[in-house]
Amino acid sequence: MPADLVLKAQAIITMDETNPRVEAVAVDRAAGTIVAVGSLAHVQSAAPGVAPTDLGDTVLMPGFIEAHSHPIPSGVFTEEPSHWISRPQGYATYADVQALWHQLDQSLAAGEPVLCWGLDRLGQGAPQLTNTELDAYFPSRPAAIIDISGHEAYFNSAVITMNGWTDGKPPADPPAARFGRNADGTSNGRAYETGAVVAAVSGVQKKVVTNPLLSVAKWFRTLAQAGVTTSSENSYAANLLPAYEALFSSAHVPIRVGVYQVSTDPTCGDPLKSNVPPTRFWKNGIKVWSDGTTFIGTLAASFPYIDNATTRNADIPMGVGGTAMMNYTREQFDAILDQHAASGLQMATHAHGDVAVDMVLDAYAEALARHHLLGTDHRWRVEHWSAARADQFQRAVELGVATPLASYQFMDLGDLLDGTLFPSEIGSQWVAAADAIKAGCRVSFHSDSPVSPVTPLLDVQCMSSRRTMSGQRHGANQAISLDDALRGVTINAAFHLRRDHDLGSIEAGKLADFVELSADPYGVDPAALTDHVTVLGTWSGGRKVDTDAFLSDIERIDPSPHQDLHRHATTPKSC
Ligand SMILES: [Zn+2]
Repeated sequence: MPADLVLKAQAIITMDETNPRVEAVAVDRAAGTIVAVGSLAHVQSAAPGVAPTDLGDTVLMPGFIEAHSHPIPSGVFTEEPSHWISRPQGYATYADVQALWHQLDQSLAAGEPVLCWGLDRLGQGAPQLTNTELDAYFPSRPAAIIDISGHEAYFNSAVITMNGWTDGKPPADPPAARFGRNADGTSNGRAYETGAVVAAVSGVQKKVVTNPLLSVAKWFRTLAQAGVTTSSENSYAANLLPAYEALFSSAHVPIRVGVYQVSTDPTCGDPLKSNVPPTRFWKNGIKVWSDGTTFIGTLAASFPYIDNATTRNADIPMGVGGTAMMNYTREQFDAILDQHAASGLQMATHAHGDVAVDMVLDAYAEALARHHLLGTDHRWRVEHWSAARADQFQRAVELGVATPLASYQFMDLGDLLDGTLFPSEIGSQWVAAADAIKAGCRVSFHSDSPVSPVTPLLDVQCMSSRRTMSGQRHGANQAISLDDALRGVTINAAFHLRRDHDLGSIEAGKLADFVELSADPYGVDPAALTDHVTVLGTWSGGRKVDTDAFLSDIERIDPSPHQDLHRHATTPKSC
């Protein structure tokens, strides 16, 4: 097909090493693909008779890609009418959260329920709340507050009443989850782990989030506004398919999504059967959680947290967590790998602590050998690598294991990690991107939303400057080049999602997904990147993204088949 669109920009940064900067790009809009890149003269020869569209001072790059995220819970929990109360949203301290709660209780109509996501015991110094403590803020309306990790929920007495729990006593504990109880068996307003969290707060969620599909569509808009054109769903379950098909039914959908299906879902080993074209929505693999998370002290690490006021207030377990924090024995984990190794699907295993990374790499090494996958392009992944060591990254390269890094943990928690949570020699090295790159890893960066906001440009700034969101610098030896950081949100993220053949760089034959930037990232101080470079818009498949048109398409969809989306939104373990 001939090109019918020629874009010219102040600069076009391709992220293709063989052709890093070009003048123009020609697009076949019907196919949504790039036909030619290069000088304007060269590109025009591929598009005879097409007048170039001059984007002026705009700088064009491949659309940003996030290799690990959770769009459905992000939409349901963080988009309005829910309230996102984490530090990056402007709630630096628990006092800021308390002020919001007072304001909400005074301004909302009587009885109108409240749902908040992202209370942060470590970062904000928030306590674990009880129902009676929450009643002080919300004396009559139902209010449910979910922890930033998604592991824990707090709710007030009105929720206990609304849930219809007899005599205020919660039902029997669901598998691998529990309700907090007072000595007399009544609820203390707390729920731990998914089964209990969902049972406790889903009534409130359903009343607050009346159109969950629209909430997820708003999240797609949030992604587009951050410059993202491809995301991933790392807690996919088969019952989310109708919602995704509804979202992708709009011709204006701004995002592509690759999914990892949770290993506990019965159809996790099956191919994805969907009416959505696989270039838009596809299945990569299977998701397993090997340990917990740094935010609440459940990562499987070989070293303890420092015992001090910050960690005590956050109820961080003291002492070395080690293998006690693992969700599976080695035998159980081996069985999961053996069940799926022959399927061709990527294994994607969550591991924040160094003990978890060791266990997963040991198991991967033996399973890959057992199933004759060593040396093949299996691209099995370990997710996050927060406390990983240099030798573990070297081992990943030897095994062909992919390394999506949890940049958000350094960006959000870095000031605390370095000296408050851990001794500086450990905490300053969190998310050791330079070690990984030195070892030969292709690293990508992710927000793990709804754990943190999607901010690819800020990820680039923080990982190349080794400054956190607050601007403080930690572990300068782990700073990486601007080029490597930009690869982490483009071509390397495409590689981790098995889409580097048609996404992640601006090359002839690839899909025409672009981000428009206000300035050239290579022309400014990388430590102040986000002061100078902003996202102006995105293109998806050769079409300029119009999120208003997308949202009005989704608003026209009957929300009733998707009413229970909130039930599936709570992530199975920590993100
Ligand atoms: Zn996650």
